[in-house]
Amino acid sequence: MSVSTVSKEQFRSFVAALIGSEQTVVGVQAKNDKFAFGPLRRAEDLRLDYDVTILSPRKYLLPPKETLLNFQVAGDSQTVCDCQPMVLIGVHPYDMAAISQMDELFSQGEYDTHYMNRRQAITIIACDVATASANVFASSMNTATVDSGFDILLTDIGGAYVVQADTDKGRALVKKMAGAKPAGADDMAKRKAVQEKNRTGLNKHVLECKPAFLPKLLEKTYDHPVWEDKARLCYSCGSCNQVCPTCYCFDVQDEVNWDLKTGSRCRVWDGCLLENFATVAGNHNFRKNRSARFRHRLYRKGKYVPSKIGGQIACVGCGRCVSACTAKIANPVDVYNTLLENTEIG
Ligand code: SF4
Ligand code: SF4
Repeated sequence: MSVSTVSKEQFRSFVAALIGSEQTVVGVQAKNDKFAFGPLRRAEDLRLDYDVTILSPRKYLLPPKETLLNFQVAGDSQTVCDCQPMVLIGVHPYDMAAISQMDELFSQGEYDTHYMNRRQAITIIACDVATASANVFASSMNTATVDSGFDILLTDIGGAYVVQADTDKGRALVKKMAGAKPAGADDMAKRKAVQEKNRTGLNKHVLECKPAFLPKLLEKTYDHPVWEDKARLCYSCGSCNQVCPTCYCFDVQDEVNWDLKTGSRCRVWDGCLLENFATVAGNHNFRKNRSARFRHRLYRKGKYVPSKIGGQIACVGCGRCVSACTAKIANPVDVYNTLLENTEIG
């Protein structure tokens, strides 16, 4: 690990030079009154003071639609692997935690070459949160700060950034930052203050237990009335799935071209709140009921995925689902706190 300091002006020049290089540079930019990740055309458009982006950076690791292979009816198929080098700038710690979870999920068991090749081609410049969003609760989920997964971590300390490089890719980039100098004790103290503030301050919704208790809580609350109470209002729109950095479910579809001889196999995002998510052959839907789908999402975050990745809870507290849900029922903290009210988990 190496830690440097670079002025904001110098960092902007570094980004401008990156944009002129061969790799794609993606960063956070303003989009009307919100923020979004998108290809950066000008260094001055980068907004590291943002609160939260509409969609998470998941879309660059697992695109909403990607071609897995092209096929010919009477011939071989060719695997398609679209993984151009990319620098992703401005990933918040909670989104970094979500990416690290996906890295683990897509590399264990069936190694997913499409995801992993793309992941390895991406250099991540993460940044500590400078502005809390309206619904963030990363402090409750222990994801308000991050200490691994990124190539570089930036912390805004006023007129400059403290730049921590953790990988060879990160260190190579820091070498290109003209004016970067080893971080002094004063800069490190300012960084510590930012991170300590975020560790407790990114908490607009407070989970009333440690995240580690959630699997145990859910074991005892499968038939709790909250599932039906909340799901009565659910539109099954799937917005909570689409905006979530830890939702990674997909559908695989074959698309045959008009010549009826060639085609492609694609994967597209899916979402467990959508009515047909669990429809299988014979048109049988094993989760037809809205409350079962609503419960499944919260079980997946709090119990099923954690059982695959060493207990890590698959909600990182970004708060996007809270903002995206028109029915105002998607907030995981509301549901988990309701479950906690009369359940003994000690
Ligand atoms: S469940 Fe909601 S708050 Fe948790 S990570 Fe997903 S979108 Fe963010
Ligand atoms: S919980 Fe909210 S966002 Fe999710 S599917 Fe239901 S209405 Fe849509």
